[in-house]
Amino acid sequence: MNNLSTLFKGVEPKDSLEVLSRAIDHFGDEICMATSFQVGGLVLLDMLHQVGKPVRVFSIDTGRLPEETYECADAIRHKYGIHVEWVFPRHEAVEKLETDKGLFSFKESTENRQECCGIRKVEPLGRALEGYSAWITGRRKEQSKTRGGLEFIESDPVHEGLVKINPLIHWSKGDLWYYAEEHKVPHNRLYDEGYLSIGCAPCTRPCREGEDERAGRWWWESPEHKECGLHLNFKNGGGI
Ligand code: SF4
Repeated sequence: MNNLSTLFKGVEPKDSLEVLSRAIDHFGDEICMATSFQVGGLVLLDMLHQVGKPVRVFSIDTGRLPEETYECADAIRHKYGIHVEWVFPRHEAVEKLETDKGLFSFKESTENRQECCGIRKVEPLGRALEGYSAWITGRRKEQSKTRGGLEFIESDPVHEGLVKINPLIHWSKGDLWYYAEEHKVPHNRLYDEGYLSIGCAPCTRPCREGEDERAGRWWWESPEHKECGLHLNFKNGGGI
C-alpha cells in the first residue's frame, strides 16, 4: 500500500476517468469491479466503457434483488456490451438459513441481518475477489457519516492484501445524475420512485425528503450498523 500512495498524485478531485485509467494500467488483470447497479456504479461502467481496457465486472445476485435491478443490469449489458459476471451465494447456506429461520430473519435482530448479509453478500464477494489485488467501488464520501474519510485508494479491511479503488469519492449525488443524463446512462427505475440507495428488495425503501442516502437501507437499525459487511468486517467492530 505504501508504494501505491503516489498512484493518484496530481489527479483532480472529480477526474474519475483518470483514477480508473491509472488504476487499470497499474494493476492490469489483477483489478476487477463489483457493481450493484446503483447510480455511482452505472456512471463507473460508462467510464469503464470509455477507458476501453478489459476489466472483469461482477455483481452479486443475493436472491432477493428487486426486478428493477435485473432490468437495469440487462439495459447496461445491451448498451455497453459489458459482460457482467453474476456471482451467487452458496445454495446450501441459503437453504439452511431459510429452513431454520424463515424468510425474514434479517428483520429480527442486527445479528440475524448480518448473518443474512454474510451468507448472501459477504461470502460470495470474498470468493469473487480471490486472486485479485484491487477492486473498484462506487462509494462516495457524501453517502453517509461512515464514508466521510474515504480516499481514492485504501487498504481493504475485510479482504486482506487487497486495495479498494474509489474513483467517485468527491462526487455528489447531483454530479452523478448530471453525468448519467448527459451520457444517457440507463438507470434503475426505482430511483424514479424516491429510492436513493438500492439493495435487496426487502431491506430497501424510498427515502423521505431530507434523509441521507443510506436512510432507506435497513431503516429499522441504528445508523452505525448500516453496512452489509462488504466494506467493513463484522467481526472487527460489529459493522462500525
Ligand atoms: Fe439479506 Fe437484507 Fe442483507 Fe439482502 S440486504 S443480504 S436480504 S439482510
